[in-house]
Amino acid sequence: MVTQKVGVNVAELVETLNFAEKVERSLGLIERAYKEFGDALVVANSLGKDSSAVWHLAKRVSPRIRGFIVTTRFKPAETKLFMKEEVARYPELRVFSNEEEIPERLYETDPDRCCDILKVKPVRQAIQEMNVRCWVTGLRCTEGRTRTDFKEREERDVGLIKLNPILIWYEREVWQYLAMNRVDVNPLYAQGYRSLGCWPCTKIAQGADERAGRWIGTNKCGGECGIHTRPLVANRPVCEKSQI
Ligand code: SF4
Repeated sequence: MVTQKVGVNVAELVETLNFAEKVERSLGLIERAYKEFGDALVVANSLGKDSSAVWHLAKRVSPRIRGFIVTTRFKPAETKLFMKEEVARYPELRVFSNEEEIPERLYETDPDRCCDILKVKPVRQAIQEMNVRCWVTGLRCTEGRTRTDFKEREERDVGLIKLNPILIWYEREVWQYLAMNRVDVNPLYAQGYRSLGCWPCTKIAQGADERAGRWIGTNKCGGECGIHTRPLVANRPVCEKSQI
């Protein structure tokens, strides 16, 4: 496996590396981080295609690598079923959710607050309970307007490294990887979805922006649930956009 430099121009890598080079780079990023953090490296698995690719890559680096899934009461039935299958197959995947009472239709009146309660809080809990020092995500910079400003390795929360090993992959390269490795994916993709979330906030959409079907009709349209933008470690300052 090649030694890689981080901190290079992400947009340039998206354009210049071919599929095989991107796969090798992603494996190298995970491998180096796993050597550094061991079991404190944990994969966040959203049960979407990008997470499925990252989970498969991580398992190639070490079958020991653990993961967590954050689910909500509003996840589609297909996603819940896929989650059950994945957890049965990989018992090292832990599931977190927040079942506290929230106002009815909060996803319409205040989707930021809804996501904060149902998604960001359980991610914080997972990071704390699993003693995570490096979390690995399926974030990609070609995915939408809100995802162009990330780095492959970041420290947005002080003391918590965030690794985005497929940041430079195109959507088609994710599908290429999943097909070539015969990885099972969430069945909702067969219906035409390109980006998956909770059922009230996710529609089938076409066009250049892969996340255009998320939060349609709200000021959050095509945006973020907050796990990539909000502080995740309690009582610690946020290290904005820093890169190490
Ligand atoms: S995606 Fe929608 S339903 Fe799910 S937590 Fe966010 S606002 Fe609530």
